[in-house]
Amino acid sequence: MPLYQGLNYGGSEWTPQFIKDIDQETCIGCGRCVKVCSQGTLGFGNLNDDEDADRMQSKIDNKNNCIGCMACGKTCVKKAIRFEAKVIKY
Ligand code: SF4
Ligand code: SF4
Repeated sequence: MPLYQGLNYGGSEWTPQFIKDIDQETCIGCGRCVKVCSQGTLGFGNLNDDEDADRMQSKIDNKNNCIGCMACGKTCVKKAIRFEAKVIKY
């Protein structure tokens, strides 16, 4: 199946890796990924039940904004962010 691909400045092909999900068991809510994302894709929220009411974690707010740069994953010390290439559908 063909994957969505782009070109870098030098004209070489590269395959964007778009954000797939965030492992909420691993995420410590440090916020690095939210700050580094230039596309406003990520946000913060309390994703837990009442017993963890104060625990904030990152979440995907606008997946359609993702450009597949993987900057969020590079900055995550917990490696909590997973990525996937996008298959082109004709
Ligand atoms: S950088 Fe990683 S650990 Fe920190 S908030 Fe984002 S996903 Fe969670
Ligand atoms: S891959 Fe890039 S654009 Fe997508 S969420 Fe991560 S930092 Fe934002």
